[in-house]
Amino acid sequence: MNVMEIYETMEYGPAPESPTLVLDWLKEHQPFGLFINGQWVKPASGNYLDTINPSTGKPLAQVAAANSNDVDAAVAAARVAAETWSKTPGHTRARYLYAIARHIQKHSRLLAVLESMDNGKPIRETRDLDIPLVARHFYYHAGWAQLMASELPGYEPVGVVGQIIPWNFPLLMLSWKIAPALAMGNTVVLKPARYTPLTALKFAEIVQEIGLPPGVVNILTGEASQVGDALVLHPGVNKIAFTGSTDVGRTLRRATAGSGKKLSLELGGKSPFIVFDDADLDSVVEGVVDAIWFNQGQVCCAGSRLLVQEDIADRLINKLRARMEKLRIGDPLDKAVDIGAIVSSAQLQEIQRLVAQGVEEGAVMWQPSWACPTEGYFFPPTLFTNVSPATTIAQVEIFGPVLVSMTFRTPAEAVELANNTRYGLAASVWSENINLALDVAPKLKAGTVWVNCTNLFDASSGFGGYRESGFGREGGKEGLYEYVRPMWETSSSSSNGLPIAIESTHSSDGSEQAVSTDEAGEDEMDHTTVSESFNGYHLALPAIDRTPKMFINGKQVRPDSGYSRDVYDPRGHVIGQVGEGNLLLRQHMRQAAGHPVQHITAHRFSTTSPRTSRYVKQSSLIASCSRQAAQVQIPPPKCRQLSRASSVTLPGPTSTRALCIVRPCVESCWQ
Ligand code: NAD
Repeated sequence: MNVMEIYETMEYGPAPESPTLVLDWLKEHQPFGLFINGQWVKPASGNYLDTINPSTGKPLAQVAAANSNDVDAAVAAARVAAETWSKTPGHTRARYLYAIARHIQKHSRLLAVLESMDNGKPIRETRDLDIPLVARHFYYHAGWAQLMASELPGYEPVGVVGQIIPWNFPLLMLSWKIAPALAMGNTVVLKPARYTPLTALKFAEIVQEIGLPPGVVNILTGEASQVGDALVLHPGVNKIAFTGSTDVGRTLRRATAGSGKKLSLELGGKSPFIVFDDADLDSVVEGVVDAIWFNQGQVCCAGSRLLVQEDIADRLINKLRARMEKLRIGDPLDKAVDIGAIVSSAQLQEIQRLVAQGVEEGAVMWQPSWACPTEGYFFPPTLFTNVSPATTIAQVEIFGPVLVSMTFRTPAEAVELANNTRYGLAASVWSENINLALDVAPKLKAGTVWVNCTNLFDASSGFGGYRESGFGREGGKEGLYEYVRPMWETSSSSSNGLPIAIESTHSSDGSEQAVSTDEAGEDEMDHTTVSESFNGYHLALPAIDRTPKMFINGKQVRPDSGYSRDVYDPRGHVIGQVGEGNLLLRQHMRQAAGHPVQHITAHRFSTTSPRTSRYVKQSSLIASCSRQAAQVQIPPPKCRQLSRASSVTLPGPTSTRALCIVRPCVESCWQ
């Protein structure tokens, strides 16, 4: 292919992401145990299940198959933990949530690649949407943890929450569940979906890494019939938070009825995507791509019903077909790929069955001319026209890359068609006339209505449905009420046997009483004890989690790779994580060449005056010398002259050994 041809076709070359670090991580950890009471334990059954890479159809890792005995153990641990976690000041809980958010960022690339391999979704989506939103959810709820006492007076945590999540956004759904639950002082037992357990297990490792007290988060992998049922029926569970299909949601509602358990259900959808004839059609086309081909259409709020005004229908359908021809399907780890693999062969067969039924019922099916990869579970983007509103494909949630389109003539007809569904999760309206859009939006029976956009999420904006899409909200202040109950509902010795009062971190005038963060001395921050004993574990106010930066070309630079490695002290204890350098680092190094400051540190030890005590502490930990000895090595805060660079090679496994240049020579830059 010559340059002219490339210019004409604008073909993308492959841009593969390496799976090596994730495969190493999987090899190191599997078979995975269950995460109960802060420990990895073997399943009571002794059984393990394979998790499959949908893009190859081959096994990726083995995870434990929990049963009801494991559920008993996890709930017992969560109940003990709830005794203290529910009384832990909001400020302390906030620090843990911030630390989780930061560690998600430190491991963001590993999580993105792992999610892609386990679920089949393109890395472009996991890297740019799933994982950033996960971190955002924990940051956001860290704020709410701190504000609970002042913003939700008269409310208390529910207690132990059983959480059950689906496979379409495995880690994102976990964050939607765990972040608000912990922020409001609850403890959790979470069951990831059978097909996609791996990022939840990496999350458990993060929970350990940040030192979250044992029992606050417990993660059980396994079959729904073994774990899900036992969790839902367990008398020690105070609330069930479920995201999944409407059929299972209905079962859970029956199972929990009359038990006194609080319940929230985030269920399926068949969301309308309404296009008026004055809409910007090129934007609409990109909107449709996001609405139904994002995540292979396996999105609860996918705009799976295209309702288009009759006079522009042909024009829009032609544009859509042209765009569909250009969509790229293939290896989810290729950064130039738009559509990855369907999560499992069972789900692929279900999509194929419904598509065949659509054709049988008289709709016209169209698919692009290119072929899907033959290895793995792939299904091409599919468009149905000539669809009648009562047919199966217009009513049933297909949960795949299949769009059904219908036409309307008037806004009233559009609203009627849009509401002609048993679901009510989301909708989007496309028009250049804001009056029309704002007139139609409130008439749509949906939990979320987007105008001239679709599938936009934020932690601060509540999401949820009504009708058969469920009830309850996730995100925003409204989402917090799913994890609290009014204090008047319980007496001081509550029926669930858990303490009910959150200790206020605010004085009567509302001013903040918690230990201030940056002003406090390092020692104070690390060891302020807020509770005598926690499940046999001494609960101290955790240190503020920080991300060590690179020091490149005279300035601090955030690690870019999204991979981190542990740093050990001479006794082999993990004392922190540093970012892995990557290609961007090499680029920075090239930029640094010729500059007076040419010293590039493996990670950053800041020596500016406010941070001297931290620098002393880190140096003494790494070099295993006394703080006094480290202090001697550190110049007084006012002196910015650092004489020479010295290096320390750390002990520990070779793979994780780090070379730290602890005294970068920055004098020429700062003088
Ligand atoms: P699913 O209902 O089959 O499974 C969801 C979870 O429930 C899984 O962890 C599964 O193991 C567990 N489960 C299944 N049967 C159970 C039982 N009897 N008792 C307890 N747990 C049980 O759904 P899925 O196929 O994993 O996910 C797809 C569905 O999720 C779609 O319908 C989609 O619309 C919905 N969803 C909704 C939202 C939302 O926010 N409303 C978000 C994502 C997905």
